[in-house]
Amino acid sequence: MLQLFNTMSRSKETFTPLNGKEVRLYSCGPTVYNNAHIGNLSTYVVVDLFKRYLSYRGYSLLHVMNLTDVDDKTIRASRNEGVPLAELTQRYTAGFMKDLESLNIGHADNYTAATEHIDDMISLIETLVEKGFAYESEGSVYYKIAMFPEYGKLAGLDLEGMLDGARVDNDEYAKESARDFALWKAWTEEDGDVFWESSWGRGRPGWHVECSAMAMKYLGETFDVHTGAVDLIFPHHQNEIAQSEAATGKPYVKYWLHREFLNIGGSKMAKSTGNMSTLSEIGRTPADIKAFRYLVVATHYRTGLNFTEEVLEAAKSTMRRLTNLLDRLETVDSSGGAAQVSDSIVRTRQLFIEHMDDDLNTARAVADMFELVQETEGWLSQGALTTESATALYDFFQELNQVLGIFYTLPEEEGEVSLSEDLADLIQRREQARKNRDWSEADQLRDELLAEGIAIKDTAKGTEWERV
Ligand SMILES: [Zn+2]
Repeated sequence: MLQLFNTMSRSKETFTPLNGKEVRLYSCGPTVYNNAHIGNLSTYVVVDLFKRYLSYRGYSLLHVMNLTDVDDKTIRASRNEGVPLAELTQRYTAGFMKDLESLNIGHADNYTAATEHIDDMISLIETLVEKGFAYESEGSVYYKIAMFPEYGKLAGLDLEGMLDGARVDNDEYAKESARDFALWKAWTEEDGDVFWESSWGRGRPGWHVECSAMAMKYLGETFDVHTGAVDLIFPHHQNEIAQSEAATGKPYVKYWLHREFLNIGGSKMAKSTGNMSTLSEIGRTPADIKAFRYLVVATHYRTGLNFTEEVLEAAKSTMRRLTNLLDRLETVDSSGGAAQVSDSIVRTRQLFIEHMDDDLNTARAVADMFELVQETEGWLSQGALTTESATALYDFFQELNQVLGIFYTLPEEEGEVSLSEDLADLIQRREQARKNRDWSEADQLRDELLAEGIAIKDTAKGTEWERV
C-alpha cells in the first residue's frame, strides 16, 4: 500500500483516493514572469515522478496545473520590461513548457491560466462575502481569518495574538504577519490597463483565490492531492484551504504533498559559471539536463537537495554508466550464459515497489536499481548473459524507467545531431591547436569535450565526434 506524508497531519498516511483508483491532482504552477528557477522545476520533476508511479501502480489521473498570469509579480515585471502583460506571460509560459519537455515531465491534463478564469474567482469571492467570511474595504475585498477557526493548521501556526482586522495587501508575507488577506484588489495606477469589472469596482484577483477557484472548477470541491514546494504552505496553501472550505463547507484536499527546497550551493560554482538558477544556465548540453533530472529523481522529495556543479558532474557520470549498460545489454548476442537473471529481476522489482510505496523513497528505490546494475555489469564482463537474459534485463530497466523517466531523448538530440555553439567552438579550437601542433592544448580541449559527453576521433578525413 502506498504511504504518503501528508503535511496536514504531519505523518505518513495510507493513500486511499476518494474514488477508487481515480486520482484528482492539483499542482500550483509557475508564475510566468521570468525563466523558471531550477528549484521550481525540481518540484515539477517530483510531481512527474509521483504521477508516473501512480500510473505504474494502476491508478488513473486527472492533473490540473495553473499558470499564474496575473498577480503582483507579473504586473511588476510587465511594467519594468515595458511590455503588455499578456505578451510577457505568453513568452514565459512558452519557456516553461520547453523546460518541462527538456526534463521529460509529462503534461498535465489541463493548464489553467488565471486570466481566463476571472469570473470563477469573482463568484467564489461573492460567495465568501455572502457567507460573512469576506468583507469589502475601499474597493478591495479581504478574507476575514478570524472567521475560520482552523486557520493556521496546515502550517502549524498558533493564531493567538494575531491582530484582529489587520490587513495585508501583498500576495506574499511571512507567518508572523498573518492578517486578513486580499481576495480582490482595487485597481491602482500601477496596474495600468490590467483590471476587470466587478461589483466592487475595477480590480483584479489576489493570487491565493486564483488556485481555489480553478482547482475546484476542474477537480471538484474536494479532491485527492495538492502539491507544491514547502514555501507555499504558508500563506498560499493555508489561504486556499480557508477560501475553499469556507465557501463549500467541505474538506478541500485529502493529501498535501510538499517538496523540500533545492539549495544552490558552492561558491566555486558561482565563480566558475556565474548564475546557475535556470535550466539554460545549468544545462549547456543534453547530458547536463538529464543529469539534473536524475539528481532530483534520486533524492527523496522531502530531503533538501544541495545543488552544486560537483554533484551535477557526479550525476552525469552515473548517467553515462547507466546508458553504457543499456547499450551493452542491447548488443549481447550469445546462446550460452549461466546467469539466473529472473530471480534478481523479481527481487529488485519487489524492493523498488516497497521503497516507492514508502512515501516515494526514490533514494532507496534507485539504490535497489543499482544493486542490479552492479550485478548486471558483473554478468556482462563474465560473458554470463544470453541474448534472452540480456533482453529481460534491458526490458526491466526500461520498466523502472517508466517511473524514473531518466532515459529519454531531448528534442535537440533527435534527427540531425547538432552541437551547442559552445561545444562546436571547443571542437574548432581543438582543430586549430592540432594544426598549430600544440598537442597539450589539443589534449586539454579533448578532455574538456569528453567531460561534456563528446568523444573526439581523429581520422584520415579529419576530426569526428560522437556523444558518449
Ligand atoms: Zn497555487
